[in-house]
Amino acid sequence: MTRITADVTFLRGYNQARVMALGRTGRTFERSTVVEATGLTPQAVSKVIARLTRDGLIRPAGVRRAGIGKPAVVYELVPDSRYAIGAHVARRTLRLVLVDLAGAVRHSAVSPLPDDFTPEQLLDNLASGVAAMTTSGDVRGKLTGVGIGMIGPLDHANGLVRGAHGLRHWHDVPLREIAEKHLDLPVHLDKDVTAGITAEAWRHGATFGDAALIMIESGIGGGFWLGGTAHRGAHTNAGEFGHTVVDLDGPRCVCGRHGCLEIVHNHAADAGDIARAARVVAVGVVNLLQTLDLAHVVLAGADLLRHPQTYLTAVTEAVRADARRADWLTTTVTLSSLGADAIAAGAAMQVLDQHYGVPELAPI
Ligand SMILES: [Zn+2]
Repeated sequence: MTRITADVTFLRGYNQARVMALGRTGRTFERSTVVEATGLTPQAVSKVIARLTRDGLIRPAGVRRAGIGKPAVVYELVPDSRYAIGAHVARRTLRLVLVDLAGAVRHSAVSPLPDDFTPEQLLDNLASGVAAMTTSGDVRGKLTGVGIGMIGPLDHANGLVRGAHGLRHWHDVPLREIAEKHLDLPVHLDKDVTAGITAEAWRHGATFGDAALIMIESGIGGGFWLGGTAHRGAHTNAGEFGHTVVDLDGPRCVCGRHGCLEIVHNHAADAGDIARAARVVAVGVVNLLQTLDLAHVVLAGADLLRHPQTYLTAVTEAVRADARRADWLTTTVTLSSLGADAIAAGAAMQVLDQHYGVPELAPI
């Protein structure tokens, strides 16, 4: 009995998510378009459309007459029917964005965080920022929650920040739980890079293949999209890309090992040799491609975006030359389409996904 209930709930959410994904592409759709795109029966699609219309998430946008048959109702997503706030917690700044149901960034604001900030200081900044973004009663009533993309290592499943290098007050902090209490809103906590790759996947839609987002901002991390979903790993700690070794005899890293990509990159960048720093990242990206066979590599992060062309050129050239890839092995390399908002926007999209995306299949 449990199994049937779980499957029905999953299927209902799954069908709804597929219709919402169609709506997010910005185009109008009708029942037959959905039937064609999803392979669902017309009856099942009618039910989903009726439910989404009742909840105000989609609306009729006219009719299409074709031939002598009954005119077909055309639907569209209602972008301002729901919102989510995304937060990007970096070492020195807090960036907040307001994202609508279609994934558009409506507002963006950055504020400084105190040096070596405490959980209480972050929560106070977060609360005042969220309050400022929801002054309009219209937004507050339609807010689904707050997504936080934060520096790791962290335990996404349990909502725990495990401890970031250089932040002394952040060891095993149950950030998701205390933020929910403080904000009185549902909170989703994830690694910054995983939030970032979610934003890219939303922008690209269903055609987005296996991908990595490489982020350079104080440290270096990687977020992964594999098999149509964010890849977090066995302990939800995937993405410590900066702590993979590229030089056995290299300098000692904050993690205690020698020659990590991050420390070798930072040494070059600190010496002003951005071209070399970019080449170090490029070597790491080629290693990733050889391991995972990715279709897209997205470059992001404040430090990288200060020299976007240098990094983009170095990585693109390395992918072309060093990976010795055959014609059928193609990988696109791009800068993040959302620029500095990528992480915060992705964190907000993760909240919307929790409500309107494909649900997790309940363990049976
Ligand atoms: Zn390291």
